[in-house]
Amino acid sequence: MSAEGIDAHDLAIAVNQLTTGGGTLPSTDIYASLLQCAVGSTFDLILLLDVQGHIRYCSQNSYELVGLPDKQAVGKSLRELIYPTDRSIVDELLAELVEGIQTAAKVDVRLRSEGDDEQFLWVQISATVMSNNDSSDSRAIYVAVKDISQVKHAEAQIQYQLSHDNLTGLMNRVQFISEVDAAIAAANIDQQPFMLLFFDLDRFKIINDSLGHDIGDRLLQAIAQRLAGAIDVSGVLARFGGDEFGLLLPNAHSFQLGQQACEKILFLLSEPFSIEGYELSVDTSVGLAKFPDHGSSSVALVQSADIAMYHVKENGKNNYAIFDASMNKDRFAQIQLEQELRRALAKGELEVYYQPVVSLVGGEIMGVEALARWNHKRLGLMEPGGFLDLAEEAGLVADLDSFVQRKAMQQVIQWHALGHDIFVSVNTSAAQLNQEAFTASFEAMLSEVGMAPSKVKLELTEKTLIKSKQFIVDQLSYLRDLGVGIAADDFGTGYSSLAYLRDFPLTSLKIDQSFVRDIKDENDTASLVDAILAVAHGLGLSVVAEGVETVAQIRYLLARDCDEAQGYIFSAPLSAQDMQAFLANNRAKNLRQENFSDA
Ligand code: C2E
Ligand code: MG
Ligand code: MG
Repeated sequence: MSAEGIDAHDLAIAVNQLTTGGGTLPSTDIYASLLQCAVGSTFDLILLLDVQGHIRYCSQNSYELVGLPDKQAVGKSLRELIYPTDRSIVDELLAELVEGIQTAAKVDVRLRSEGDDEQFLWVQISATVMSNNDSSDSRAIYVAVKDISQVKHAEAQIQYQLSHDNLTGLMNRVQFISEVDAAIAAANIDQQPFMLLFFDLDRFKIINDSLGHDIGDRLLQAIAQRLAGAIDVSGVLARFGGDEFGLLLPNAHSFQLGQQACEKILFLLSEPFSIEGYELSVDTSVGLAKFPDHGSSSVALVQSADIAMYHVKENGKNNYAIFDASMNKDRFAQIQLEQELRRALAKGELEVYYQPVVSLVGGEIMGVEALARWNHKRLGLMEPGGFLDLAEEAGLVADLDSFVQRKAMQQVIQWHALGHDIFVSVNTSAAQLNQEAFTASFEAMLSEVGMAPSKVKLELTEKTLIKSKQFIVDQLSYLRDLGVGIAADDFGTGYSSLAYLRDFPLTSLKIDQSFVRDIKDENDTASLVDAILAVAHGLGLSVVAEGVETVAQIRYLLARDCDEAQGYIFSAPLSAQDMQAFLANNRAKNLRQENFSDA
């Protein structure tokens, strides 16, 4: 502190007066100089007010905070400097001090920028009553005004971050729940119901896994933007995390309005999004819940909408459903099943079934496809249709894949030892294929198990192959160069495009059973099968027909040079034990001799 203008002696007197006077206001000039000196050294604005709240003294730095030179500030009332909506706070503060309810107090208020009621500056006002004796006339109020705009700005930023989703800028779950709480409070007063939607994108995970998180993030942003621009102004849209969103419609008092909103969301998201050259479309499952019928608290209401959304997912997806109490049970069962699957996987309790792949010309068993089975305590032997989606939603599918792959390889090696020189075909998912270390761990698995790469085929479905992603192409090329076969599974379904056949390092193609099913007799013109066979052979790929069930189908395929077939006519998938017996009997070969000794 610069003691300019005051000598040490005067300073000592002033300090003495202050300390021995019990905080009462000394009336000397020295004190005034001391005060001047003290206030000159602080960034705060210092004011002395009379009990009416008029400024009697103002420090010289007033211009920076209130836009007034100190001389002009003197004589004004403090409330004139305050932003209009905050004036009552200051009035109350001064009243409490003057009435003796408090001797000192602090409040955060906004100062009004001179001449502009829209502009303000956040300050903290600390006020202290100072009195010489008990008569009210000699009391004064010491006020320090501190600029806290930076603190407030930081607070607002933190508040924003705590209440919003970083990626999309939408509200987050926490804030959404408090908005729902507010809507419930309002609805309880005006006795009006309202609607709440919960929705989840059906194929987002596939997009994220196959095209990468950057594209996934961009898609989420585009979705948020499209929705935010289209929903009713009173609607509150939030991202709960992942691909889950909530929409609160406090003004939708009827199911009809709620349903319209569901349809609008389905419609809005059905239009493809164009992201970095990809045309991406997402399906959406929407659950609708009504306050108060489906939950009297925010959490219960969101949960009901979530349950309704899951119901849609279970029943074909890309639709909406209104919550119904009977859905509760299903969702609970679902969660339980997910936990059981997690445990079964951890304990290695999943099983592998094997289905023979047969040469159409010779009828020999060329290989087996490994198919996951889950032998569930209550539900019995479950096929992948009953748990694969669940595994995918729960992020377990990559582990499931490698479990099945390893177990199948170990098994087939034993069959090699028994003299059956067969390949093993294993399925993979987008999630597994997208793991950075996939090729390395697959190669490690081959050598740990002692399996020749040339005896292994990796089956990919077309949804794994969404467009050509260089990373996946590289992974697959690496494996193919090792000798691993790469098969396009279920060809013709999903994102069907002949471009995949050229872009990906495939060695074979499996015609989906839906096309094979269309072949009714051997002279049929099942043109799609013909076209697939022609294109595949043109590219040097071998072709496997899936789901072959009749002799007519075998003959048809044989006539068109289809290489191999798989289907119930040879055998349904079998347990390891049954498959071993099947191999031993070489039943497939016998079957062929019985069925087309004339072919
Ligand atoms: P997929 O790879 O196309 O396997 C063939 C499916 O067709 C098997 O169903 C098989 O039981 C069934 N199938 C075989 N022959 C016939 C037939 O003649 N008629 C009919 N109607 N169906 C036949 P499954 O075992 O239920 O497997 C379904 C799908 O689950 C598989 O289709 C595969 O995409 C997937 N999957 C199975 N295991 C795994 C796994 O370990 N990992 C991954 N990611 N997917 C798997
Ligand atoms: Mg397969
Ligand atoms: Mg298939």
